[in-house]
Amino acid sequence: MIPPGSTIGILGDGQLGRMLAIAARQMGYEVQVLGPNGPDSPAGQIASRQVVADYTDQEAVKAFARAVDVVTYEFENVSAESIKTILSEGKPARPGANVLYTTQNRLREKRFLQSIGCATAPFAAVTSENDIAVAVEVTGLPGVLKTAGSGYDGKGQRVVRTIEETAAAWEELGRVDCVLEGFVDFAWEGSIVAARGVDGSYADFGLVKNDHSHHILDVTEVPAPSVTPELSQKASMIARSILQELDVVGVLCVELFVTAEGTLRVNELAPRPHNSGHFTIDACVTSQFEQQLRAVCGLPLGDPSLLGRGAAMANLLGDVWTDHTPDWSGMMTDFPDVKLHLYGKAEAKPGRKMGHLTVSGKTGAEAAERVRQARARLR
Ligand code: AMP
Repeated sequence: MIPPGSTIGILGDGQLGRMLAIAARQMGYEVQVLGPNGPDSPAGQIASRQVVADYTDQEAVKAFARAVDVVTYEFENVSAESIKTILSEGKPARPGANVLYTTQNRLREKRFLQSIGCATAPFAAVTSENDIAVAVEVTGLPGVLKTAGSGYDGKGQRVVRTIEETAAAWEELGRVDCVLEGFVDFAWEGSIVAARGVDGSYADFGLVKNDHSHHILDVTEVPAPSVTPELSQKASMIARSILQELDVVGVLCVELFVTAEGTLRVNELAPRPHNSGHFTIDACVTSQFEQQLRAVCGLPLGDPSLLGRGAAMANLLGDVWTDHTPDWSGMMTDFPDVKLHLYGKAEAKPGRKMGHLTVSGKTGAEAAERVRQARARLR
């Protein structure tokens, strides 16, 4: 157990590290972050020390590990070498190297999901030109060709309708290892954020609905509408088995496609707190960040229950700042129940995640409507 008063180390200096750092500070932990962006970074502003270095700089990672009691991260693309370096200093790195290894690569991730009996889109590997025809046989068309390595928010993927388009998309993506997925005819997209402790204890925040705009999360609605107890139980069972089988210590988000018939297919995994779990800060007994802290420090997990009956979160992208400063005062006057979170980023760029709004309501749908209105009031 790493008790309050100890020092947690975060690899990554963005908003996820920032919100974890705030939760850690609240519980009396010291926080150090390592990332490339300097002490003015979102997480660096909260930490007592920021090491300005690249995540692959082994000397820096070694010194960092020496100075902290446990290391966790805000993104999954930490190299195996860096994890080895942390462990060689006798410090725990949580979640472990196996979790990162599996989730860093879509193909490995999908094969893992298949091996534990989780439904996904039909998929096949495309690692050479010769694979394309066979892959199309497996998945059917239309499909989505995605790079197996680093891709997020819809980057590194193409929708394809014919074999020729698939071949062209593979060229365009740089002839790198890819996975072809059959197109899932989903009714809506959801996610479930879950946590697992050192002792194998488990807790999740339930199935939520996510609306995207230009491939970026726009609004999360909690609970998702028309979720029967059966569907939410199914989502929990899927998340529980993933965290168990991957032996996760920490937080992991399962992104899901939900069909009109109420079947669930796993789209992808993120072994960390997730944008779709930001509502938990204001709307749940324990936030996803406090849960991450508790899990990686070997503390008992907190109560994940929703405080009210419904809640919603809307992202604030840099676009809200276009041509003017957002009308904070006007929004707060008209929506005194809305909670504002800003990540301390100096420059607002289109598509850049600058902050979010959260509100509670009698239902998820009512809260989603209200949080959209509040965001519109900023313009
Ligand atoms: P991803 O980066 O894998 O989360 O994909 C980004 C978005 O593309 C998802 O949120 C979906 O809206 C869409 N998408 C990805 N894969 C599929 C698929 N196999 N079938 C249908 N839509 C998909």
